[in-house]
Amino acid sequence: MAQQVEAIYKQLGQEIAGRKFPRIVESGQGAYLTIEGKPRLNFCSNNYLGLANDEVLRQAAIDAINNYGVGTGSVRALSGTNELHIDLENKLAHFKHAEAALAVTGGYMANMAAIQTIIGKEDIVVSDELNHASIIDAVRLSQVKLKFIYKHRDMGELEEHLREASKLRETPRSDGKPPVILIITDGVFSMDGDMAPMTQIVELAEKYDVLTMVDDAHGEGVVGDHGRGIVDHFGLNGRVDIEVGTLSKAFGVMGGFITGRQVLIDYLRLRARQFLFSNGLSVPDTAALIAAVEILEASDERVKKLWKNGDYLKEEFKKRGFNTGQSETPITPVMLGDEALAVEFSNKLFINDVYATQIVFPMVPKGMARIRVMPSAAHAREDLDKGIAAFEKVAKELHVLQ
Ligand SMILES: *Cc1c(COP(=O)(O)O)cnc(C)c1O
Repeated sequence: MAQQVEAIYKQLGQEIAGRKFPRIVESGQGAYLTIEGKPRLNFCSNNYLGLANDEVLRQAAIDAINNYGVGTGSVRALSGTNELHIDLENKLAHFKHAEAALAVTGGYMANMAAIQTIIGKEDIVVSDELNHASIIDAVRLSQVKLKFIYKHRDMGELEEHLREASKLRETPRSDGKPPVILIITDGVFSMDGDMAPMTQIVELAEKYDVLTMVDDAHGEGVVGDHGRGIVDHFGLNGRVDIEVGTLSKAFGVMGGFITGRQVLIDYLRLRARQFLFSNGLSVPDTAALIAAVEILEASDERVKKLWKNGDYLKEEFKKRGFNTGQSETPITPVMLGDEALAVEFSNKLFINDVYATQIVFPMVPKGMARIRVMPSAAHAREDLDKGIAAFEKVAKELHVLQ
């Protein structure tokens, strides 16, 4: 009898007992999602610009499949670099006002590639406490021993850590070179919608002569001119060493990318394990992404609509007495506090054909549960009004509002 093995499976089952699986979407992404046979207002996708189901992106994918097929046959480093990959990377670099770009299969992968390749055991990382899980995992993967975590957006603490890190830099690594010091931050923090103080971070990085990296997953397509991201938003083009982005949110498809100086991107192309040992983007993904970047370069109409929708939501929620937190972006958290209340609120919204998921511990601290509303350029004013009315109804039922 395989008693040990059975015990492991039993343990796994016990750990997830009572947990629900995600709901299943039976339509494409848009202002509405068909779930359990009915259209529900979509208030929780990261499809900020409505590109995920856009006609132009769909056609680009179809045309590319007709020209090149679907798969790329091998990792990029062997025979798997299609000319579409290069076109996408050139367009991303241009869009981000950067020298060069490297595309991989996810923002998660991009963080792994950027951090693991640049940082080794004997280097030093300085990181915001609320950075995304993929940054935390990537830092772990780098096996770096010296990690300084500063309080969320606390520039005094960041400077203290930089002062200490500079002292530690005087002791060389075992290869005789000084340790690399890298500051890492999210650009837009997705749970609250607040932004990293990039200007101060860059000024401190320049003062202490250290590298900077920003993960702009929720900033690209959202902040900055034409949605070029947080570095552009703060007028810091050329002053942040490593920009990581996702192609899975505003860009509407999937994938991730890194932009920076040509030499950095060339180095990653030859050294990043995520690039060398894992396949690149598929043909249709890549073609659709080229179309997405072209759309964003050509017009800021969708970005403007997204902001208009976000501003409208915040204003209307506030008018009704909801607490929408500290967001500086279209992300609109509706703060509820209690975990069980947030779960019940989301369930009741769903009964009213509004799909907005609760955000609870460990995604946010205990007692800070919320429903996070994600507006999109795909929403019309009437869609938002419908959602706001449902929130008001449920809030009264649950005595969140009087
Ligand atoms: C979503 C997200 C990622 C992961 O991006 P994928 O393309 O889904 O892998 C990484 N970092 C941040 C900050 C994110 O919000």
